[in-house]
Amino acid sequence: MNPSTARPMAREFAEAAEIAGQCYYELTVERGPAYPSLNGQLSVDVGVVGAGFAGLSAALELAQRGYSVALLEAQRIAAAASGRNGGQILPGFSCDIGVIQAQLGQAGARRAWDLSIEGMAIVKDRALGLGIDCEYTPGWALFAARPGHVQKLRDWRNQLERDLGYGAHVEFIDASELHRWTASTAYHAALIDHHAGHLNPLKLALAMSAACQALGVQIFENTPVLEVVRGSAPALAAPTGRVNCKKVVMAANVFGNSFDLPMRNRVMSIGNTIIATEPLPAQLAERLLPGRYAACDTNFLLDYYRITADHRMLWGGGSTYLRHDVGNRIQALQEKMVATFPDLRGFGVECAWGGLIDATLSRAPDFGRIDEEIYYLQGFSGHGVNVTAIAGRLAAEAIAGQPERFDLLAGLKHRKFPAVAWVRRAGLALGASFYQLRDVWS
Ligand SMILES: Cc1cc2nc3c(=O)[nH]c(=O)nc-3n(C[C@H](O)[C@H](O)[C@H](O)COP(=O)(O)OP(=O)(O)OC[C@H]3O[C@@H](n4cnc5c(N)ncnc54)[C@H](O)[C@@H]3O)c2cc1C
Repeated sequence: MNPSTARPMAREFAEAAEIAGQCYYELTVERGPAYPSLNGQLSVDVGVVGAGFAGLSAALELAQRGYSVALLEAQRIAAAASGRNGGQILPGFSCDIGVIQAQLGQAGARRAWDLSIEGMAIVKDRALGLGIDCEYTPGWALFAARPGHVQKLRDWRNQLERDLGYGAHVEFIDASELHRWTASTAYHAALIDHHAGHLNPLKLALAMSAACQALGVQIFENTPVLEVVRGSAPALAAPTGRVNCKKVVMAANVFGNSFDLPMRNRVMSIGNTIIATEPLPAQLAERLLPGRYAACDTNFLLDYYRITADHRMLWGGGSTYLRHDVGNRIQALQEKMVATFPDLRGFGVECAWGGLIDATLSRAPDFGRIDEEIYYLQGFSGHGVNVTAIAGRLAAEAIAGQPERFDLLAGLKHRKFPAVAWVRRAGLALGASFYQLRDVWS
């Protein structure tokens, strides 16, 4: 047996608490009483660490295949990134597809891309099929923020058509037609993706947890896993209980860095902030984004936004690499929002919150297995709504003896960040400053 004991989980959880704020989605749901904490010993086929989208997806897919599953969550369901994100369901991955192509070749990259599209379909099916209205809305627009980005959008449209079989879903819109999709005059062109969409992510997570429970998954909230015991009889140890299992799925996002496991420090936390305005008059909301498509711009440090079901503008962006700049983000986001949509001047911001993104160096996802028993799903790099969905399915397939699709993505190689926290933060902050300059000049 090769035991692995976690360090105290202070750092990332403290960081998450520091930027938590008031999350709008929490105002849209009735969570009800918490699932119990783990108390005592339990034996199951699979123990899952973390009830964000990745852990919920793995638990659901495993239960659908007949496995007994225990899902252990340190906080409440989707208390971290999955319950506080932009809700945009997008194709592909956070990294450019070329990053994947460089490692897996053209055919491998195409298979990986198709998995990301399957992830979108899984999310849509769950959003529409689990009996809770998740506010699913089709459509997404990618707006060219600089004149120099217009050709990039054309090239991307061509690549989607030529290499990725996705061309039928997207149309290129030039400046003269932009008014059909946005009231903003800040942009130079757009790619409109009719296959993408957006939803209320916390509602989806709660729908998934209810579906898990209905299939017999034993869910434990307020149950931090403090130790992952490795070896042929793995186990998860929590403060007042223990789960003995045959397999483990680690789906702990950046918090997985607490564990002394081989995938440690291949992701690092990047804070990202979202604001939500007070409800807007319905006609104004419709005018700002006709068709209610979600939106992003083409800057590397991008703005992303959408209109919610109750007509708020929900505006996110501005990654934070250094802790002390978190508070400044709210004003900066509001200024950016008003600069893009001057009609929003004077509308109040009712909620502002942050969350942690688990970024890999390449921004490609990082999946793998340790000792054959422990699977891990991390590195969604800010593009996880679709990728977590397929990640859970692939982990379940692999545990069920069909590892080929899991192994495709697990074949992506990743480098570690420097172990010393301030060195990696300083490095990323410098990188971000570079990209900020590049965004302005390109
Ligand atoms: C502000 C923001 C906006 C985003 N917007 C988008 C978007 O619009 N579209 C998109 O595709 N992606 C977006 N993302 C990314 C997306 O939200 C994530 O990739 C995805 O939610 C990750 O899911 P996860 O399950 O891996 O992690 P999480 O949701 O973070 O879940 C991990 C869970 O593990 C639990 N945990 C950790 N350690 C332990 C332990 N030791 N014991 C027990 N439980 C533990 C945590 O409490 C947490 O609940 C955004 C992210 C952020 C932060």
